[in-house]
Amino acid sequence: MEEDIEYFTKKVAAALGVNPLRLGAAQRDFSDRVREACADNGVDFRRVRVATETVETLLQTRDQLHRARAQSSGSGDFSIGSQVWPGAAKLIEEMAELQQLLAKLIATAGKTKYWGGVDLKERVKEEMADVEAAMMFFARQNFSAEDEECIKKRAELKGDLYEKWHAGQDPLP
Ligand SMILES: [Mg+2]
Repeated sequence: MEEDIEYFTKKVAAALGVNPLRLGAAQRDFSDRVREACADNGVDFRRVRVATETVETLLQTRDQLHRARAQSSGSGDFSIGSQVWPGAAKLIEEMAELQQLLAKLIATAGKTKYWGGVDLKERVKEEMADVEAAMMFFARQNFSAEDEECIKKRAELKGDLYEKWHAGQDPLP
């Protein structure tokens, strides 16, 4: 029985991330309490040990699964569904797709018919929508409503400035 209690308290200490050697009196007190609780409730301490081992195995299995997942596919940070800047990866991907199409438009000297019968104007339109969707998702997930309002205001000001430049009403910097 003493051996079981020592085993149990060591496992509990390990699960809690506490050094069992430093538990001292608290460890003994805890062991007594566990033993008393088992006796009071008619529980066989050996069953508690089996339960402890089962929980420990489950926790180890869970940790192994998390480690294996992280090694095989990365942490997933910056992706949709993650906790770290969710949507950043998608936004980069969509911006790159739009850039690719704009580069093709430059390559054709502005003609919208691309090799393979691709309609560049249609494709640019689609990718602009993708960028906008990714940007809106990114803003919603990573910024407060107040921040989003600031982004919207700045975008409006910038948009107005570009229109002025385009109309020749404001000198270029
Ligand atoms: Mg796209």
